[in-house]
Amino acid sequence: TDQQLKQILNRIDQKGYKAYKDIMGEYQFSDFKLSIDYVQGDPFASPSRIRVSVPNPQAGFVNQLYNTQYKRKAVVDFLSRTVAKNISKHYNRVGGSGKSGLLQIGYCGQELIERNYVIIDDEKVEARLEVGLPAAGRRVLGKNAINLFFKALPAIVKKSLFYESISEEKLINQVRLAEDQQFIRGEIENRNLVAFIANGSILPRESGVSQRPMSGNAIPFTSPKEYEIELVLPNHGKVKGMGIPEGVTLIVGGGFHGKSTILEALQLGVYDHIAGDGREYLITRENAVKIKAEDGRSVEKVNITPFINNLPMKLDTKQFSSENASGSTSQAANIMEALEIGTDLLLIDEDTSATNFMIRDRRMQQLVKKDKEPITPFIDKVRTLYEEQGVSTILVIGGSGDYFEVADHVIMMDEYIPKDVTEVAKEIMKDVTNPRKVEQSHSTLTEQSRVLLKSSFPSGKKGTKVKVRGRETISYNKMDIDLRNLEQLIDSNQTHAISYTLYFIMERVVNDKLTFKEVVDTVYEKLTKKGLDVVSPYRGHPGNMALPRKFEIAATLNRFRYLKIK
Ligand code: ADP
Ligand code: MG
Repeated sequence: TDQQLKQILNRIDQKGYKAYKDIMGEYQFSDFKLSIDYVQGDPFASPSRIRVSVPNPQAGFVNQLYNTQYKRKAVVDFLSRTVAKNISKHYNRVGGSGKSGLLQIGYCGQELIERNYVIIDDEKVEARLEVGLPAAGRRVLGKNAINLFFKALPAIVKKSLFYESISEEKLINQVRLAEDQQFIRGEIENRNLVAFIANGSILPRESGVSQRPMSGNAIPFTSPKEYEIELVLPNHGKVKGMGIPEGVTLIVGGGFHGKSTILEALQLGVYDHIAGDGREYLITRENAVKIKAEDGRSVEKVNITPFINNLPMKLDTKQFSSENASGSTSQAANIMEALEIGTDLLLIDEDTSATNFMIRDRRMQQLVKKDKEPITPFIDKVRTLYEEQGVSTILVIGGSGDYFEVADHVIMMDEYIPKDVTEVAKEIMKDVTNPRKVEQSHSTLTEQSRVLLKSSFPSGKKGTKVKVRGRETISYNKMDIDLRNLEQLIDSNQTHAISYTLYFIMERVVNDKLTFKEVVDTVYEKLTKKGLDVVSPYRGHPGNMALPRKFEIAATLNRFRYLKIK
C-alpha cells in the first residue's frame, strides 16, 4: 500500500541516490494505483517513469467518449493537457541537483495526434508521467519525495483523471471538433478534392520556431469563388471554404505574397489541429507528402529512371545508390520513395526544389541537347503522374510560366488572398510562338522492387543502441539519421516512436523476404491496430510516443546509412 512507499522513503532519506531503486513497484493509494516502473540511476540521468491508474467505471468516463479511434485520440489529448495544467497548478518544483523534483507528462503541441501519455478504456484511466526523484547532490531527499508522491500526485490525479472534476464542456467540444475533422477527411475524398481550407482560417504562424497562430495582423483565408464549396459538419454546421480538386494545381504570385505559407499549412493538414489554432478546418489528404531537394542525403537502391537516366560514369539509376545525393537526384528519390509507400498528393515548393529538376526551358533545350541531359524535369512527368497513377500535385512556382501548360488549375496569391487565374494563364499560353518541347523519359513511374535486408541492422560492440536527439536526429550505434528535412515529422515523440519502431523492425519484422513497403506496412498496422505501446522496448511505462505516419517511418529508414536493399 501507499504506507509501504512512505516507510521506504523515510528509511532511505539522506542516503545515496541508488537507494531509490528500492521504491520500484506498485502501491495502492486511496483512489488510484501508482506504479513506479523505472528508477533513474542518478539525478542527472533521464527521469524515472511512473504510471497512475484509476479504475474506470469509478473514474466516470463512459464508453461512448472513446469508442472510436478519433474520439479516443481527442480524449487522450485532452486529458494529457489537463494533467500538464494540473501539474503546474498543484505542484511546486523545489530545486535540487540535476532533474531533481521534475514532474511532467509528454508535451502536446498544436497538432492533435494519437499519443500514449494517457490510456483510457473500460477498465482504467491511466496517465504516464516522468519524475526526477529529488536529491541534493547525490543524496536522497526523502521528505521532498514524500511531498511529491503524497501531496502533489493525489491532487493531480483527483483533478485530472476523474470525469466529475474535468471541464466536461471543453472535453466534449474537443471530441466534437475531432468528429468534424474526421467528417471533412471523408468528404474531401468523396468529392475528389485533395484539400479543404475553410474561409477564416489563419495560415501564417507566429514565427519560424513557433507553430502558434500569427497574432494580430494575420489576414484570414478566403476562397476564390470558383473553388468555394459548402460543407455541413455534424457538429459545427455549415462551413464554406476552398476545395482544391485533384489534378495539377499551381500556386503562383509575387514574392512574399503568401505562397509558401499556404503550402506549409497544407502539408500539416495531414494532421488535425486543436481549437484556436486557426487551421481547425484545414484538412489535406492524409497521405500527402512534401517533396524537397535534399542534397547530401543517402539513397539506397531506388529506381529513379523516370527522372534520371544516363548519368556520367554509367551510374545505375534503376537501382540508384549514393552516400551523398545531389539536389536533383535526392528530389527524384524523394518522389519515388513517397510513391512506393502510396502517396496520392505531392506538395512541392520552388523555394526548396532543385531548379534543374523542376524546369528546362526552350533556350536551354536548344543549347544542351536531350541526350546530354540526364534529367527529365518534373514538368514533363507531372501529368503522367496524375493521368496514369492518380497522383495529384500542388506546386508553388513563381518563376516559370512553362508550368501553365501542364496545370489543371492556377491559383494566384495576391496579398495573401488566393485568386483563380486559370483562364488568364491559358490565354497567355496560346500566344507563345516558340513553345518548349515536351521531353519524355521512356520509363514509366513503375513500382519499386526493394527487399529490405536483415543486414541493415548491424550490431555494435555492445549490442544495438538507438537514441533520439530532439525531433531531428536518431542515432543508431552512433550513426546519425538526419530527419531535419522531414517537415511533416512534427514532434520529438514521433521521433521516439520511430526509434522504437527501428528496434521492432529489426527484431520482429525483417526476414530478407519482405519488401521495404511490406515492412513499413506491417509495423504501421501494428502501431495503429494494437496501439503505440506495441513497439516499446520497456515494461510498464512505455516511454512517451506520438504516432508518426508511415511516410515518415519509411523516410527515416530511407535516410539510414546502414540500410541494405536487395
Ligand atoms: P512567398 O512564398 O510567396 O514568398 P511567404 O509564404 O513566405 O511568401 O510569406 C511571406 C510572409 O508573409 C511571411 O513572413 C508570412 O508569415 C507572411 N504571411 C503569409 N500569409 C499571411 C497572412 N495570411 N497574413 C499575414 N501575413 C502573412
Ligand atoms: Mg516562398
